[in-house]
Amino acid sequence: MFADFLRRLYLAYHDSLTGLPNRAQFMEELGRELAHAQRADNIIALLMLDLDHFKQINDTMGHAAGDQVLKEVSRRLKKRVRKEDHMARLGGDEFAIIQRDLKTLEDAVSFGKELLVILSQPYDIKEMKFQGGVSIGIAIWQPGQPIDTNLLEQADIALYKAKEERGLFAFYTSKMTSEIKRRVDLRNDLEEALNTDELFLVYQPQIDIRSNKLIGVEALLRWKHPEKGFISPAEFIPIAEMHGMMHRLGFRVLKEACETLCRWCDKGENPEVMAVNISPNQLDSEVFDQKIIDLIERLGMPGKMLELEVTERIMIQPRASTDLTLRKLAENGIKLSMDDFGTGYSSLLTLRRWPFHRLKIAQEFVRDMLIDSSDREIVKATIGFAENLGLQVIAEGVEEMEQLEFLKQNGCYLIQGYLVARPMTEDKLFEWMQKRITENNAVLSE
Ligand code: C2E
Ligand code: MG
Ligand code: MG
Repeated sequence: MFADFLRRLYLAYHDSLTGLPNRAQFMEELGRELAHAQRADNIIALLMLDLDHFKQINDTMGHAAGDQVLKEVSRRLKKRVRKEDHMARLGGDEFAIIQRDLKTLEDAVSFGKELLVILSQPYDIKEMKFQGGVSIGIAIWQPGQPIDTNLLEQADIALYKAKEERGLFAFYTSKMTSEIKRRVDLRNDLEEALNTDELFLVYQPQIDIRSNKLIGVEALLRWKHPEKGFISPAEFIPIAEMHGMMHRLGFRVLKEACETLCRWCDKGENPEVMAVNISPNQLDSEVFDQKIIDLIERLGMPGKMLELEVTERIMIQPRASTDLTLRKLAENGIKLSMDDFGTGYSSLLTLRRWPFHRLKIAQEFVRDMLIDSSDREIVKATIGFAENLGLQVIAEGVEEMEQLEFLKQNGCYLIQGYLVARPMTEDKLFEWMQKRITENNAVLSE
């Protein structure tokens, strides 16, 4: 009976995978250490660690491999951390350490550097060696600071800063703005929202103005945050990318978008193609292509009904496997388009290298092309470029009839933008498609 009680007590305060104290115990210890440091006039440091690429390992090599890494990290930490200090696994791949009784701030720096070396040694997982890496955020409490300083939050902010700047570690300073605080909060909230309907898709039609035919729809992600309201994907996608959430999030988008397309088809509407935005780091996964192929096979959806929109960023650091991945997708009929063309780095060579079928003229050029001559030239050049390469070209962000006229005159007939329709939910777009039929495709002809 008593042994059972002790066991439950142990489990309440420890992480069962690594045997390290958990967040609950760590917070109690932190409170005690702050009180002690105040009495003894000492400095304490809180170091928060987050493994680089951990989520990718979990997603691509499986949870057992992820667990092995976590155990190895904790073994290395246990060997190095002093008995009188405290450490914990806070959750996921986050670990924290309290260093007590520091004499100077440099002690925390040299300790942090040591941890970087220790944790960056290769890990042997499933007979593969993989290079570890870690980022560290450090928050310091010194005599004179309030006792209720939220040291854990400060270390978390510093950690975020370290990751964002791809630095190895960062100290919290009061200058770290509320902007970072917002991003830290968003990251934590996004992790929670990944499997909820706070995240959902809307769909925007793409049409060919020559026939007024619907040629596809683009799936766009939305996040309705319970307190902050709508957050733009332009803000939260980079956060998801930076924190390794894009594999999960991206696959959810792909799955939901394809399922939606199939539901529309079952109900008698066929918008031809579902275009889905893909982040470069989704292509890092070795199973990316196979997962998509399995998905469309399961849904009985022909590959040609799926289009992947990638940005020029994939060309900056393509992995050797990217070639194979994109080719395999193309062999299965899946289309590839280059989004926001002209905003990043692309050359004829890189464009030729992969099986693109379409270029998308970035919204920012379309927006200003009637008032800015250099944007106008970029739009014209892109259209010419596409023509020379035998690719289709589509303009997005078309809001005005004058913009449409200009595009038409210059040989771009595929458009997407508020002029045609705003992004809509699955049901609304279904109604929209039905209305088009009854009104004889009259969207742009009134
Ligand atoms: P994008 O792929 O270039 O998407 C086009 C953006 O233009 C969308 O913004 C769309 O709502 C907006 N838009 C369309 N027509 C008009 C118009 O006529 N006027 C104006 N002012 N805007 C128009 P949104 O939905 O805010 O998405 C922003 C970016 O976030 C997207 O740019 C895309 O890069 C990214 N994104 C959105 N959903 C996903 C996703 O599921 N995965 C990934 N990786 N990225 C996504
Ligand atoms: Mg797009
Ligand atoms: Mg775009």
